[in-house]
Amino acid sequence: MSKTKERIRESNLRYRQSLGQNFLYDEDLLATLVADAGVGPEEDVLEIGPGAGSLTAPLCDAAHHVLSLELDERLIPLLEAFMAGRENFSLLQGDVMTANLAEITGNLRRPFAVVANIPYYITTPLITRLLTCGLPLSRLALMVQKEVAEKILSHPGEEGWGPLAVRCQYQCDPYLARIVPAACFTPPPKVDSAFLVMPLRQEPAVRVREEKDFFQIVTAAFALRRKTMTNGLCASLHLNREEALALMGRAGLDEKIRGERLTLEELARLSDAWTEMKEEKDK
Ligand code: SAM
Repeated sequence: MSKTKERIRESNLRYRQSLGQNFLYDEDLLATLVADAGVGPEEDVLEIGPGAGSLTAPLCDAAHHVLSLELDERLIPLLEAFMAGRENFSLLQGDVMTANLAEITGNLRRPFAVVANIPYYITTPLITRLLTCGLPLSRLALMVQKEVAEKILSHPGEEGWGPLAVRCQYQCDPYLARIVPAACFTPPPKVDSAFLVMPLRQEPAVRVREEKDFFQIVTAAFALRRKTMTNGLCASLHLNREEALALMGRAGLDEKIRGERLTLEELARLSDAWTEMKEEKDK
């Protein structure tokens, strides 16, 4: 049995499902994940949800410094004991969804990587928070549910293609590092998982004049899944049909196309057309 698993057993700690506590103990797998994450000795890492520290320890072996943020207060003394003597490790107790990320990562070398076996109950809001927090990130390397990985890697017109995939592919160049079967976790979750690596792009995948407008268009594209983009524009941007048709025309798009079929490039064209239309109205 791994050292961390033994510690958890000895402490009589019960896994909290409500906190997404599905721990990994297989040391070979954990070493492989750290290698997949591509962390080097010059790089600092933010780890979310260290749990018993089983991923934290090999991360510390590979990285320059690891800062781990854990919500569950019961795990803090265990982690402190397990990681004692490691000088390139710091631990904070808190909630990644409300913590002041700029403040807590203030001492990390920039850009830093986020590497984590994340709690699945916050997957989408967490990825969105990390990608919109404005911090200089090199990469996200995250364990997610397999279906979420499929979504993030999907293409226009596929079922998974939606706001999360657009956001991730716009800002990152995501790829699947490996599938991790449910049986590798303790306790096992209901579904298989996937380790996804998402290097941040130097520049977004497509250029848009106003990013805020781009994400408004993205919301419009997927709000009414089975309807045309023209209808989506009417509903989300409060346009009349004539205005929505004019916008589609400016972007060179067929008025009957569904929003869920639009590529990043087409969404960007629509976004710029929307920016332009608003500027003309304001004149
Ligand atoms: N890293 C460990 C491993 O791989 O075995 C544990 C991973 S477990 C899937 C998720 C961890 O995130 C748990 O330790 C849980 O307590 C912690 N957690 C849950 N919600 C959190 C939150 N909002 N902020 C920070 N940590 C959280």
